[in-house]
Amino acid sequence: MARYQVKFYKGDYGERQRAANADAAVCYVEQHFNSVGDPSPNYTMVVLSTNASETASNWARRYSGAVAAKFGIKDQGIRKGGRGDGNLARAKMPAILLEPFFVSNPQGSQWAKTRQQELAEILVGTIREFFPDGGAVAFSVGHKYKRSAPNDRGASAHGGGNEADLAEAVLLKAQTLLEAMVAVPDDEGEDEPIHAAEVSPWAREAHEWVVANGISDGTRPQEPVTREQLWTMLHRAATKPK
Ligand SMILES: [Zn+2]
Repeated sequence: MARYQVKFYKGDYGERQRAANADAAVCYVEQHFNSVGDPSPNYTMVVLSTNASETASNWARRYSGAVAAKFGIKDQGIRKGGRGDGNLARAKMPAILLEPFFVSNPQGSQWAKTRQQELAEILVGTIREFFPDGGAVAFSVGHKYKRSAPNDRGASAHGGGNEADLAEAVLLKAQTLLEAMVAVPDDEGEDEPIHAAEVSPWAREAHEWVVANGISDGTRPQEPVTREQLWTMLHRAATKPK
C-alpha cells in the first residue's frame, strides 16, 4: 500500500537536510518562486545540487516540463550547482528546488496566488511517478523558518505578498493531496490510487477513519452497499482489537 507521510523541515538549510536524512525521507522538495528586477521574464526551472542523481535530474525535468506545458511558458529545464549546493547537496535522497515561475512578473505573481492547486497537483503527480512505493516526503519552504535569518521571506511578489508565504501555501496543498491518497488493489489486482477528493466533504472524516481502522478499503465512495457488506463492516468495527 503506497502511502506518503509529509513532513516540513525548518531551521537552516543544512539542518533541514540532515533531519530529512535521519528520517530516511525518500525525496526532498524545496519550494521557491523566481524573481528578478525586470518584470518581463517568466519561465520555469528547477535547481539541483552539483551532485544530483540521475533520478533527481529526471524528476526535475518532468516537473519543469509539466509546469511549462500547463502554464504555457518556456521550460528552462534544470540548473545544477549554485544555490542548489547549499540548499540540497547534503540531502541523501533525490532533492529538487522548484522555481515554477517568476513572482516579479505580473502574470507569474497572479498565478502564484490563484493557481497554487495546479502547482501542487503537478508536484504530487511527479512524486507519485518517481517514488511510487510511498514513504516519507520532505518539504522545505524556501527562505522561511531559517534559524539564522528568521525574517527572510524571499522575493516580494508583484502586487503584494512574498515568495515564501506563496511557496508554503503550495506545499501545504501538495501535502493534503499526498496524504489523502491510499493505494488499494483494483479489480485487476493492480495498485490504484484512490483520491479522497472523490469523497464528499461531509464524509471525509469517516472515510479516513474506516480506511485507517481497516473497516473498509475506502474505494468506490459513491456506490451503494449491500446488506452483507454492511454487516461485514460493522463486524470489523465491533471486533477490532482495541
Ligand atoms: Zn527563493
